Parts: sequence; structure tokens; C-alpha cells
Amino acid sequence: MSTKTIIEPFRIKSVEPIRWTTRAQRESLLRAAHWNLFLLEADDVLIDLLTDSGTGAMSTHQWAGIMEGDESYAGSKSFAHFKNSVQDITGYRHVIPTHQGRAAERILFNVMCKKGDVVPNNTHFDTTRANVEFVGAEAVDLLHPEARRPETILPFKGNMDVAALEALIARVGKERIPLVMLTVTNNSGGGQPVSMENAKAVSQVCKTHNIPLYFDACRFAENAWFIREREPGYSSKTPKEIAQEMFALGDGCTMSAKKDGMANIGGFLCTNDDILARQEKDLLILTEGYPTYGGLAGRDLEAVAIGLQESLDEDYLRYRIASTAYLGNHIAEQGVPIVQPPGGHAIYIDAKAFLPHIPVEQFPGVALAAELYLEGGIRSVEIGSLMFAAAANMELVRLAIPRRTYTQSHIDYVVEIILKVFARREKIKGLKLTYEAPFLRHFTAHLEPM
Ligand SMILES: *Cc1c(COP(=O)(O)O)cnc(C)c1O
Repeated sequence: MSTKTIIEPFRIKSVEPIRWTTRAQRESLLRAAHWNLFLLEADDVLIDLLTDSGTGAMSTHQWAGIMEGDESYAGSKSFAHFKNSVQDITGYRHVIPTHQGRAAERILFNVMCKKGDVVPNNTHFDTTRANVEFVGAEAVDLLHPEARRPETILPFKGNMDVAALEALIARVGKERIPLVMLTVTNNSGGGQPVSMENAKAVSQVCKTHNIPLYFDACRFAENAWFIREREPGYSSKTPKEIAQEMFALGDGCTMSAKKDGMANIGGFLCTNDDILARQEKDLLILTEGYPTYGGLAGRDLEAVAIGLQESLDEDYLRYRIASTAYLGNHIAEQGVPIVQPPGGHAIYIDAKAFLPHIPVEQFPGVALAAELYLEGGIRSVEIGSLMFAAAANMELVRLAIPRRTYTQSHIDYVVEIILKVFARREKIKGLKLTYEAPFLRHFTAHLEPM
């Protein structure tokens, strides 16, 4: 395709109405939700950019697969389809289905980690960090220092700091590092890609020290597209070839199929290690289900099997990455501070720079997310001090774009609302915490204005 205009590579067959509320309604709804947008009813949200997880639109092909789902308890043909699709892309020997990504994480860290261990990652996602810490291990983020600055433009801002990895191994000893993880794309670090060169360097360090490398592969397809666009030597490779090359550098992966699996639910854990796979399947049976369905219906396995392949379609990825950048570029042009360059699945507003008068202890990200809801019924999520407490690197508000769901005019509306809030930013106040759970507190926290 050589035209200037990039279009949605699909037409709409089924529609779902969205509902307006008045400003007065939103004020009382926000109060009732204790200024935590997770606690709103989805029906009271006009444009929902809370997450791109499980919120995308499935294709006609996936819906047809849903009808074809084989619901046999053991050995269903939908599992065979699922396994083949995952192995076609990852090449890993064992494919363990799970109901979503965090179930794969829980099983992986339970089997591989013990108290006192250390798990390095470019940036741990919130559930990944929580699952590492839950088994008593320490989750260490090894992002490049310059990648922590939101305004710095780098092609592969998700890269792991390889020198820091080597220093960590030297400091704590390889016996305490049961695995290294690489998150592609780096969700909490701004949806930024990891280069093949960086993955190769990390893989080399892991091989030298005999430490297994696992990918947190949630957005492997988007990461492959960035490599194709930005890394020398990859422009004529297909996204699938690039993804295959990257997976071959590791020993396994965790995956949320709610992301680049293009499904509403699902996930998996892969490994090349026969002994680990057996232990993982035992744990799977304990809490998730038999190893040929792992907490999913046969129909879900079909949707994921098809969705994984669709996520690697070039027309889809071109549109996907361009439409996310469209939002980012339109607000950045007007001076709104965002994490640069735009990531794959989301735009991250730098709330610290947007609201410099609100100290970090008063949650500038939560305050900004609340204002976007009040102004236009838009739901976003804070990724900062409420989510990560002292481990927060930045104060961000993430606008995640569900896959194949909103059109350009929806995004134009979001741009308009953000600019309106930006124009009156000096009047926005900070918040204080009135309730918090012992872990993953952002999901249920209560706040109120200072
Ligand atoms: C979503 C996500 C997870 C967890 O997956 P769930 O399906 O939400 O449990 C893990 N890592 C990353 C990078 C993610 O984006």
C-alpha cells in the first residue's frame, strides 16, 4: 500500500451503542467511585481506554471459530489448533493454556522461583511484579536510564540495560536468578519496543550464565512491527518471521491472549524444559484445569488460535501502530507532554509534566484520569505512584487503544477532550488515599480530593 491515508483494514458488521452522560451525572458517579475509575460501571463510560486487554473486536473468522469450538474435557481438537498456532509462532515445545496472562505468571514463578531469588526484567508489568513478589522473590526493573525520561525519543525505548543485567548477575550471583524476563513491548515503560539486537544481547548474557530467558510476549506482534519499521535488516521480513526469530532467542514465554491474541480471554505459558513443563501442568490441574483447556472453553482456544495469526497481518499492524500514533501526535502537537515516541497499544500522558503543581504524593496521574472522565466520559488509567508506590518510575496516564474497536472520529473526540483539560490544567487539584488493599492496590483504592 503506497497511499498517504492509512485506513481501518476492516468494515463493521456488528455495532454496540455507547452512552452519553451529563457532566453533573459524571460528577456524582466519580464521587461514588471514590475517584477510582476502575470502580465505575462501564455503561457510564463513553470511550473506554482503560485497557486494551480483552476489549478488542473479534473478526468474523474468530466468531466462526467460536461456533467450531470443541468442548471435550480432554484432547479437544480446539486445543490441537491452539497448540499448533502457538508453536507455529513461538517454536516452543510445551504449550500450557491458562485463563489469562497472570495465571501463566503465577505458575511460572511458583515453579521457578523461591524466597530470596531475584528476577530481572526490562520493566515488570504490575501483575508480573506482584506474582514475583508473592513467592518472596525480588522483581528488578533494568530499563536504560535515558528511557525513563518521557520526552527522550529513542527507536527502542523498551530495551533492557544489558550492562545493568551483567552487573546485577555479578552482584547477587547467578544462583539467585532463576530466570530473566523480557517484556515485548514494554507495557509499563510506555508501550515501547525492544530491538532484536537487544534481545540477542540479553539472550547471550543469559546463555553465558546458564540462566533461562522468558519473554512476557503480550504484544509480540506489535513489537515485531516496530522491528520491521525501525531496525536495520528487517524491512523485508514478515512480522511472523521476526516474531519467530525473537522467540528462538528464549526458553519460553508467558502470554496474555487478551492482547495480541486478539481474544476476549485467554493466555498461555510456554517452555522448552520437559521437567518444568511437567511441574507446571501439575499446578495447572490444581487451579486452572486439565492441560488441554487450562481454564478456557474450547471456543476460547479457537478464538486465540485464529487471533494470534491475525495479529501478525501486515495491514492490521500498519493500521494499529498508525492509529495509536495518530492520537499521540495530535495531542503532542498542541503541547501535551506524552511519552515519546508513541507506543504500540497506548499513549501515555506524562502527568508530572501536565500537572507540575501536584506533588507525586497527591497522585497527579489519578487526578488527570479523573478530569478526563469528568470532561468527556473517557476512562484511562494511572500508571504511577498509585499503581507501583515507591517502585514507580514515572507518573503516567495511559490511554490504551482496544484493537479494531474505535474509529478515527472517536479518537478525534478524545483529542478534543484532552486539549480542553489541558487548557484548564492549573485548576486541577491532587488527591489523597483513603483506602488501600495490601497488594495491587490501584484496582480497589479509594481516594478523595485534597
Ligand atoms: C496484560 C499483561 C499481563 C497480564 O495479563 P492478564 O491477561 O491481564 O492477566 C502481563 N504482562 C504484560 C506486559 C501485560 O500487558
